[in-house]
Amino acid sequence: AAALDVQRIRADFPLLSRSVHGKSLVYFDNANTSQKPAAVIEAVDRYYREYNANVSRAVHFLGEEATSAYEGARDKLAAFINATSRNELVLTSGTTQATNLVAYSFALPRLQPGDAILTTVMEHHANIVPWQLVAQRAGATVKAAPINERGELIVERFVELLTPEVKLACVTHVSNVLGTVNPIREIARECRKRGIPLLVDGSQAVPHRPVDVQALGCDFYALTGHKMLSPTGTGALWAKKEHLAAMPPFFGGGEMIREVRFDGTTFAEPPHKFEAGTPNIAGFVGLSAAIDYYQSLGFEAIHAHEQQLLAYATERLREVPGVRIFGEAAEKEPVISFLVDGAQATDLATLLDLQGVAVRSGHHCAHPLMQFFGVPATLRASLAFYNTREEVDAFIEALGKVRKLLM
Ligand code: PMP
Repeated sequence: AAALDVQRIRADFPLLSRSVHGKSLVYFDNANTSQKPAAVIEAVDRYYREYNANVSRAVHFLGEEATSAYEGARDKLAAFINATSRNELVLTSGTTQATNLVAYSFALPRLQPGDAILTTVMEHHANIVPWQLVAQRAGATVKAAPINERGELIVERFVELLTPEVKLACVTHVSNVLGTVNPIREIARECRKRGIPLLVDGSQAVPHRPVDVQALGCDFYALTGHKMLSPTGTGALWAKKEHLAAMPPFFGGGEMIREVRFDGTTFAEPPHKFEAGTPNIAGFVGLSAAIDYYQSLGFEAIHAHEQQLLAYATERLREVPGVRIFGEAAEKEPVISFLVDGAQATDLATLLDLQGVAVRSGHHCAHPLMQFFGVPATLRASLAFYNTREEVDAFIEALGKVRKLLM
């Protein structure tokens, strides 16, 4: 594939030319949320200017346009992750709504006292807390498979923990803190051998790599739109047809019914059975444009650029005295967590911000992972395909400066 023309790409992202505190912005908080290309912003703008209407409820011209744009986003997303059918995609407000839907509609009805849900130490709270909430109700427990010092899942231990009382396994595809890529195909194979359904949290994978849910072999795949160039409040749950067919609806309301009667309501077919109320139509119009944008670049070129940038940033960071990097997995997406000896993460992030560098500091919604490493917080630089080596240099220079201020 041809190399990315990053300067041309950057011109597509209006926000990247901003300055903050009088400095050129270096935006390294992409794992938190990505910036949006003009094509996405304009698609949302056009929707509100030209065909704003509610979906599925109107036979008028605009209603049909809005419905076909919203349902078109479902088609695009289905193709994007290689679902066998558009009906396997429930559109949600993000990963959090997707995992909660599986918790209440799939897990809770199956959990008996003494049962368990298996997850891992490296999960985001969105892939821990919903399982705890339903496990508590059912008298079940949540177990967590360990990781090693490099921040890799210990797959043999995960497999040992796949015991008969486990009714669902939940693993992130890519860690939002460490960048670790988990071997989902292998994990899915082990789960299938034991008849245990597997949910994969794809939030941090879809922005970086082509995802093929059929090849992965999982049962559920959750994703969030705002980390992949799309508006906030968009996301999806992909699930195998048979699971969606067996799941009772969770949210009730308009759009999700066939007929409502006080002596018994009947429901629409999946996926609409799970989409009560007016959805984020504008958001999904934007998500459609975001998928087109990814496809115009191609993941091969994105991956090559991001991996070079990750290697370069890691190498430069290691030159800074007192830096400790968390997460040295063999396969990583461009996320680097680190600390600097003698300085608090928040102080560093605050001073970096004054230099125009946006990184995140904190626990990254992954308390158990912080507990594993024995630290309250880390700094996280998370990169995207529109970042450059020059920005890495600016970041390292700024870090050198602020480190001296704090020593
Ligand atoms: N899982 C992972 C791995 C994440 O990084 C995030 C977002 N930080 C989430 C889940 C939650 O996504 P959302 O807040 O969009 O629902």
